[in-house]
Amino acid sequence: MQMNSLNVSPDFPCFPDNAKSLANRYLTKEIYERLIHIKTQYGFTLYDAIRSGLENPDSSIGIYAGDAESYELFSDIFIPVIQRYHSIEVLKHHIKSTTSSSFTSIIADRLDLMESRFPDPDREHKYIISTRIRVARNLNGFPFTPIISTFDRKRVEKIIIQALENIPSPLKGVYRSIQPSLIIKSSFDKSFFRKGDRFQDAAGINRDWPDSRGIFESDDKKFMVWVNEEDHLRVISIDKTGDISGVFKRLIMGVKDIENNLNLKNISFAWNQELGYLTACPSNLGTSMRASVHIQLPNLFKNKHLLNNAATQLQLQIRGTKGENSDVESAVFDISNIQRLGVTEKQCVEILYKGLCKIIELEEDLANYNPLSET
Ligand code: ADP
Ligand code: MG
Repeated sequence: MQMNSLNVSPDFPCFPDNAKSLANRYLTKEIYERLIHIKTQYGFTLYDAIRSGLENPDSSIGIYAGDAESYELFSDIFIPVIQRYHSIEVLKHHIKSTTSSSFTSIIADRLDLMESRFPDPDREHKYIISTRIRVARNLNGFPFTPIISTFDRKRVEKIIIQALENIPSPLKGVYRSIQPSLIIKSSFDKSFFRKGDRFQDAAGINRDWPDSRGIFESDDKKFMVWVNEEDHLRVISIDKTGDISGVFKRLIMGVKDIENNLNLKNISFAWNQELGYLTACPSNLGTSMRASVHIQLPNLFKNKHLLNNAATQLQLQIRGTKGENSDVESAVFDISNIQRLGVTEKQCVEILYKGLCKIIELEEDLANYNPLSET
């Protein structure tokens, strides 16, 4: 794989002194020396895995997987990172076995979907601007985006286009390639597929941009599939409301349709019993689900420490308006579940729902609080 050379020493300790990432925190000299000379079958090394964290000392995770095998081969460093991020215990000897059940698949969740009705947490429609739930998927038998070749990226795109071709209504839609001169904007202005940030860039994910990248969008614009972004697929359901249940159901319908079409061609998603769906970034393992809202909170915007404290307690993550590593504009936050492994898809959504009820309550308390009335 062709990468720019780094200004850091290949010797341990390799991370700069100011590095804050989980990879830096858990990479001991012993682990480094044990893993630094081995490669996966696609040629991915520990050095490739931590490259993004090395180049970006402000990375929070600082390590990516180049393929499914990375999680097994480099488990000594991936396991502590995964355990810390998802707050669960991962058993090394289970990574390849089929006996553990820390993960429940989307199919199992589907059975009780009929009962999982989450009312709109913003009943008066004052705060929530849109709801978006996405899952990530990678195809078995291909390297992941940090290391995939131009040829394989094209093959992945072709397979996904075929799986989407005869998708039934109401998800039926069109696929468009991303053209260098044409920014494809979805109807949701703030949710568009753009070239990855400097963290993804250093990981190798932006190579050959925008070659073989594209967006499938349903006719009603509420269902999307991003092809060859951070993972081979990002399956997305979105709506300009707080109808979490509706968005969740549409997503599950879409994922099942794609999975069935792929299975007909003997193609499956990269998955294992212990880690669930395997993704380029370890933060997405498990359900790979991020259920988020764009929510305008003017009072909490002025009291960000209150919002941050609440988010930590409620197991929620706060992002900026244009996504990860972006700023909050016009007091519009992206709030989502943080944990994706060790929970079911329904639990991811439930965590968001319950957390939002509390956060809206906090925003209303602040709005009603008038310091001048205090004696
Ligand atoms: P992910 O990795 O889950 O896809 P990112 O943080 O990379 O999320 O953001 C991807 C895009 O999705 C960004 O343009 C962001 O603004 C948009 N987005 C995220 N959540 C929402 C939401 N609830 N409503 C509308 N757009 C959203
Ligand atoms: Mg992203």
